[in-house]
Amino acid sequence: MSALTAILRERIAAEGPISLADYMATCLLHPEHGVYTGRDPLGAAGDFTTAPEISQMFGELTSLALARAWIDQGQPAFTLAELGPGRGTLMADILRVGRKVPGFLDAAQVVLVEASPHLRDRQKAALEGHQVAWTDHADKLPQAPLWLIANEFFDALPVRQFERRGTGWCERRVGARDGALVLGLTEATEVAALAHRLDDTREGDVVELTPSLPPIAEAIGQRIADHGGAALIVDYGDWRSLGDTLQALRRHERVDPLAAPGEADLTTHVDFEAITAAVPCAHTRLTPQGVFLERLGVTARAQQLAAGLQGAALENHVAAHRRLTHPEEMGTLFKVLGLLPEGAPPIAGLDT
Ligand code: SAH
Repeated sequence: MSALTAILRERIAAEGPISLADYMATCLLHPEHGVYTGRDPLGAAGDFTTAPEISQMFGELTSLALARAWIDQGQPAFTLAELGPGRGTLMADILRVGRKVPGFLDAAQVVLVEASPHLRDRQKAALEGHQVAWTDHADKLPQAPLWLIANEFFDALPVRQFERRGTGWCERRVGARDGALVLGLTEATEVAALAHRLDDTREGDVVELTPSLPPIAEAIGQRIADHGGAALIVDYGDWRSLGDTLQALRRHERVDPLAAPGEADLTTHVDFEAITAAVPCAHTRLTPQGVFLERLGVTARAQQLAAGLQGAALENHVAAHRRLTHPEEMGTLFKVLGLLPEGAPPIAGLDT
């Protein structure tokens, strides 16, 4: 039995069944045994891998899109922020390319929003030589123009799940039976935050709510609306949540999300509409990651890098290009949402 199974069973015995959001938060961020707090879950030896870990091209091109928007908005002094920077690879790639844009890095104060002390250490090592500050929540970012990237951050935020019954909703909660963690349902109640979903759901449909998402999105959007800036939010998901999208990955294999708490990464599909509903600034339409990267020149960059490679390194590079952009890989499943001030020039690569 995993350490967290025992901790969760004790808590459930004392308090009764807990929400899926409480369950996810414990699995991901428990100070000792959490997926992000207890260890590094990224990469080939971990549970999952991400676009910046697959290829440097991802960070290079997002860096150029951010820098372009910075030039378009008059090159102010600004906060360059990342939500959930993992190993720091993406920010390292952004800074490497950002150095080539005159004035960009000099105007930037780098701030990383990271909950895990363990991963903060990884980020510190990856960004050695750069002046970097950390905070644990987006609402603590400076009140200043904000250029921000978030890749596979919102999918890690804990969700509550509800099943429709008539005009009410039963919440799915995690309880315990015969020593194992199991999902159960509460009685149906009206849920104000789901009132708008009565129009587009049917009896038995499952929808997800992410309680910690609106304050984070609002904090970012408010800075962009008040001071200028741009955010690129990259994740798998859709415009509006429908269905149970909770998934657990342990060493790159899908497993039962309740089977081994703390030993498998838990994610859900991001509800991008919920982000746009919480921001007081303008937003772009959703653009598939593959289209976004193509528009920013990923094929030309891939060819340029390929010219210096041979053998296995060349094969890996070609596979990485395909993985980032191909519709059967991350190209369509992953989407990019841009946030920007009302009336600002469009963000390169994104549908307006
Ligand atoms: N963006 C990185 C890593 C994605 S993994 C990449 O693309 O490789 C998710 C990251 O978000 C990790 O760094 C994790 O520790 C962080 N994280 C998860 N939940 C968080 C929260 N509630 N607050 C701050 N950081 C969080």
